[in-house]
Amino acid sequence: MRLHCELYNAGLQERIEAFRKAGISINYYDQQNALPDIKAFRPEFAPLGSHALQQTLRRLDLAMQAFFRRAKAGESPGFPRFKSAARFSGFSYPDPAGWKLFQHGRRGATLRLGSGKDAMMMRARGRHRFAEFQLNDVTISRRNGQWFASVTLRVADEACAREREGNQQRGVDFGVTDWATFEDGTRIENPRFLRDELPKLAALQRQRECKKKGSCRYRRLTKQIGRLHKCIANLRRDFLHKQTTRLVDTCAVIATEELKPKNMSRSAKGSAETPGKRVRQKAGLNREILSASFGMAHQMLAYKAVEAGTRLHLVNTRQLKPSQRCCACWELTPKTLAERTHVCQHCGHTMPRDQNSAAVVLIDAYTIPEKDTTGTVVAARRKPLARQRARPRSKTRETPTTIAQAI
Ligand SMILES: [Zn+2]
Repeated sequence: MRLHCELYNAGLQERIEAFRKAGISINYYDQQNALPDIKAFRPEFAPLGSHALQQTLRRLDLAMQAFFRRAKAGESPGFPRFKSAARFSGFSYPDPAGWKLFQHGRRGATLRLGSGKDAMMMRARGRHRFAEFQLNDVTISRRNGQWFASVTLRVADEACAREREGNQQRGVDFGVTDWATFEDGTRIENPRFLRDELPKLAALQRQRECKKKGSCRYRRLTKQIGRLHKCIANLRRDFLHKQTTRLVDTCAVIATEELKPKNMSRSAKGSAETPGKRVRQKAGLNREILSASFGMAHQMLAYKAVEAGTRLHLVNTRQLKPSQRCCACWELTPKTLAERTHVCQHCGHTMPRDQNSAAVVLIDAYTIPEKDTTGTVVAARRKPLARQRARPRSKTRETPTTIAQAI
């Protein structure tokens, strides 16, 4: 890690000085071609493996490119920094050369970095579920004083497949009060890991404010805060993995809104001329929106759905407006965020708000051709007819009308 960090900083310095003193722009290939000379002069770099060293230089190149791209686009990016060993996040082997993974049954694995007498053997926790695989790459990183190895394997598509237990068709509405609400009214409570730990977090941060910056005590508290954050993140990720796996395992069709947490959690602060209203309240809501981590949930749902052969239908929220549309008559009833019950202005249909929108997205999943599940067009949708709605309940859930009836 220390040597990789040194290489990164040296590469950055070379680029800066070459430009300052001679007006030359040094690119990635110039630096890559200098690697053999570096290894001849500093033999301790040799056992790290040439591909891993190249990857570190490539990272530097990416940082520079990102800086110039953003500067060109009129943003105000920070220039790539020299990194201390503590700030340096890690390094990687971009291909199967220079490392190896040995798995011991169910007990864990050993990772070997380098080869010959310079090799480093490391015990690692965790295991994979594949009988046949090829190693692809490995990234070594350090966070909060702990080391992590992230290994990518190349496996056949069939090996990734998940066995599905059920063939349900569910509409889901993700929210802050209840993490998920289904079209039949069942819900999954939001565990609110962050909110439970907030007093503890605030206490630690308050304590740290009383300490001299950079002192032993300051650093000790920083470490404790980092550990608490990591603990919350672990709880959250565990919860999300369990819930999304269960959803995908039991459903053949999952319909939900395409959420944009970044837009939803935009600050209400406004500008100096037009200050926003209820900024503190919105900040609290934003914290909860981000803590419920819908973005992560959607990513997990997306890849797990592919593995299980589940159809994930993502509704375009702007076009469909599931929280305002009535699942019985498909008309819009405007509501504020505080109104938790849907009472239709047109047909009088009454239902909890989240359940109604879950039902709407499920109906939407069946109103467009199966091929195109990325977006929806409201104008092209058939409206259920009044006559059809009055028919007796049906068990088959195939057309929009029958779903609306069943609900
Ligand atoms: Zn209605």
